[in-house]
Amino acid sequence: MTLFNLFGKRTFAHGIHPEEYKATTKEKATRRLPFAPEIIVPLAQSIGKPAKSIVFKGQQITRGEIIAEADGFMSVPIHAPVTGQVKSIDIVMTAKGEKAPAITITTSLSSGQLILESDIQQDYLRLSRTELIQAVKNTGIVGLGGAAFPTHVKMSIPDDRKIHTVLVNGCECEPFLTTDHRVMLEKIEQLLGIRIAMKCVDAPKAIIGIEDNKLDVLSAIKPHLPDDGSISIEAIETKYPQGAEKMLAYSLLGIEIPSGGLPSEVGLAIFNVATLAEIGALLPAGRGLIERIITITGDTVEKSGNYLIPIGTPIRYLLEYAGVSGQEIELILGGPMMGLPIQSLDVPVTKGTGGLLVLDKHATKQGDVLPCIKCSQCLQACPILLNPAELGQLAAKRLYDIMEEDFHLNDCFECGACSYVCPSNIPLVQYFRIAKTLNRERHLQDG
Ligand code: SF4
Ligand code: SF4
Repeated sequence: MTLFNLFGKRTFAHGIHPEEYKATTKEKATRRLPFAPEIIVPLAQSIGKPAKSIVFKGQQITRGEIIAEADGFMSVPIHAPVTGQVKSIDIVMTAKGEKAPAITITTSLSSGQLILESDIQQDYLRLSRTELIQAVKNTGIVGLGGAAFPTHVKMSIPDDRKIHTVLVNGCECEPFLTTDHRVMLEKIEQLLGIRIAMKCVDAPKAIIGIEDNKLDVLSAIKPHLPDDGSISIEAIETKYPQGAEKMLAYSLLGIEIPSGGLPSEVGLAIFNVATLAEIGALLPAGRGLIERIITITGDTVEKSGNYLIPIGTPIRYLLEYAGVSGQEIELILGGPMMGLPIQSLDVPVTKGTGGLLVLDKHATKQGDVLPCIKCSQCLQACPILLNPAELGQLAAKRLYDIMEEDFHLNDCFECGACSYVCPSNIPLVQYFRIAKTLNRERHLQDG
């Protein structure tokens, strides 16, 4: 049974309504950013295994050719985002503040940057499911909504599970971000990728779920949907975190994904809309993922907008181009709720980067952390009905094992809604991230 809000829109229980801050960029059509003189391509761009470099220092490479091969099932290949020369294959700083191997390319700015033509024009209808999933893997695609999970792995449904519905996640519930919004308006023909996903997981129907702050998408897409009703589009309440898989499944269909379980256990396969749009373009052309759209926005950005950017473009270049004023800025890759604060301007855009948020440090300064006043606002916010206040108290006492065993810490997907509402400025979600990391390390030590 689904829940409905006051206006009859489907929704889920709890959650929050943060200020959207989307008006500055949602009306702006996507523009291509000029190529940066240097591109840094990390070999680890998904939560799977890093790819293996197959190029050497000094090698000339052409935009679109494979420069790193997948290393096993949980890995995807990487294609050259630009034509140029391999400057180095070295250890660089990543957005997570860790060091990792990357291929640095000096861009050939005079080359015209045409993409290497593939002779594998693929008619997806003629491929078997196995061949199709392999073709998806060959594109190097991972979840573009931020999770960066290899898409072909998600599509490899175990034989004992039957998928009845593909859910296409077009909610984009994080404030500030509007890339999925633009993709749905500008790349309607590429939503062929939905058909490809349906075939890969053998599902008879698909539902595109959008928040009701994107009704222009509803009217743009509806005329293009097939007459047989196999693909539909539904607006659900604009509420954070509506785009989380559990919330989307519940709001659209009233289906609960069990604690610790996968969507396929309840007959669902869930994909981000931009991921499927890319597959719809790349797979028939036999091409790899070399660029993506990201939202660049924030208080101090002169040219806020949605930009098509080669993967590997350094953040420093984006800031220069978009015109960022002020010295005291805070940079976040992704949205303000679940994004990653970054310290170095030399880290590059990767496949999972959906946004670059530039905020004035003074405006974002949090107040002092105060004691919990037991107001229960965090309990009202948590979309999976955890008790963040109690978890926070346990974290303060370093009782991480009790958090996991008795208070379902691992169900927390770090949406940050509890921290957002806390009047005492308790950084609950940061506590939970630390607790999970320490628990993982403890389990590894225990064998
Ligand atoms: S961060 Fe975790 S505990 Fe806090 S609201 Fe989100 S899911 Fe609940
Ligand atoms: S919102 Fe903050 S102050 Fe209120 S109960 Fe939760 S942790 Fe305590």
